[in-house]
Amino acid sequence: MDFTGTYYCAYCGEGNEIFVEPEGGDVQTVTEDCSVCCRPNVLNIRLINGQIYINSEFEG
Ligand SMILES: [Zn+2]
Repeated sequence: MDFTGTYYCAYCGEGNEIFVEPEGGDVQTVTEDCSVCCRPNVLNIRLINGQIYINSEFEG
C-alpha cells in the first residue's frame, strides 16, 4: 500500500509529498517544512480506508 501523501503548503501553495508512517495511527499531527519556501506547516493527517487526507495549517 502506498503511504505517500501530498499536501499543499499553507504559505506558498506548492504541493509537497511526504511519507506517512501507518504505525503512527489513523490520526497524526506532524510539522513539516515546505520544500519550496522552507516554512513550517502543521499537517493534520488522517488515514481512512487506505486513503490519506492531509490538511495543512500555519504553525502557531
Ligand atoms: Zn511553501
